[in-house]
Amino acid sequence: MKKKHFNIPLFIPELACPFQCIYCNQRKISGQLVVPSAEEITTKIDKHLETISEKNSEVEVAFFGGNFTGLKIDEQVEYLEVVQPYVQKGKISGIRLSTRPDYINEEALNILKNYNVKTIELGAQSMDDEVLKLAKRGHTAVDTENTSKLILEAGFSLGLQMMIGLPGDTLDKAIYTAKKIVELGANNTRIYPCLVIKGTKLEEMYRSGKYKPLSLDEAVLWSKELLKIFESSGVDVIKMGLHPSEGLLSGEELIAGPFHQSFRELVLTEIWWDLLEPLLKREESKFDIYVPKGQINYAVGYNAQNKKRFKDKEVKFIADQNFKGRDFKIISLE
Ligand code: SF4
Repeated sequence: MKKKHFNIPLFIPELACPFQCIYCNQRKISGQLVVPSAEEITTKIDKHLETISEKNSEVEVAFFGGNFTGLKIDEQVEYLEVVQPYVQKGKISGIRLSTRPDYINEEALNILKNYNVKTIELGAQSMDDEVLKLAKRGHTAVDTENTSKLILEAGFSLGLQMMIGLPGDTLDKAIYTAKKIVELGANNTRIYPCLVIKGTKLEEMYRSGKYKPLSLDEAVLWSKELLKIFESSGVDVIKMGLHPSEGLLSGEELIAGPFHQSFRELVLTEIWWDLLEPLLKREESKFDIYVPKGQINYAVGYNAQNKKRFKDKEVKFIADQNFKGRDFKIISLE
């Protein structure tokens, strides 16, 4: 039986980051203003572990939010050491962390290897240099290519995160980025629609009319196309949409942009609609659609959107545990 995967997310906000990407106010995105101490990290890990049944689960500690390998070496080591006793006791299977493509070299990778880091995620954001430049990322697509190779050669699992809807971005550029992510051999990815967060350069651009975020519909449709590319290439999409921290949920920090608490469900609804829409042409007005058990919510659609799209047809969705992937069958009731 496949083990259930859990991440214990630990945010290290902007501590080591000398950059200021136009969309980023990392302290606000992570919903946390202070950098956690080693003791706080221990407490957080313990608390999370209490909620996870040890049987049949695989737990990773995930350092997210900033630029981990931009920390001073002794600070990186301090954080990594906190996790080691848990790894030795078998409670944690490994560590994953996110960092910038231009802040990793072979020396840094050796240190991470020695401390049970298994997965390194790079904030690639785009593989188009113009988009990276407008976002003031401070690195190029070639940096992402070179670092991805180093990470894979050193035996780590590679994550390449992408952001859609940055200034200068287009659907074609996003598709190009997704294809490059596949080509670079990423094991997993995250798709983040660009949001306008309070206190960022992007907020100024938005308020002065120099930036227009994607609409929610656009972000969903772009993500659908990207998801198809990743799924057909075996790249695991571990996240679509931003982590809904409290600030975003209350709307306090979110100025504009395609934020939705159920963003992934919206995208999967559209993926299913691409499969189901041809059924509108069927002559019968009454039929059952059998879909895999784990997919029924997406087939019916967020807020029953797909079911409603059948309008005058009488359609019932039925979960069938023998079905896999996105297989489905129709049984006519006329
Ligand atoms: S590199 Fe990361 S943490 Fe630093 S400003 Fe850019 S997005 Fe924020």
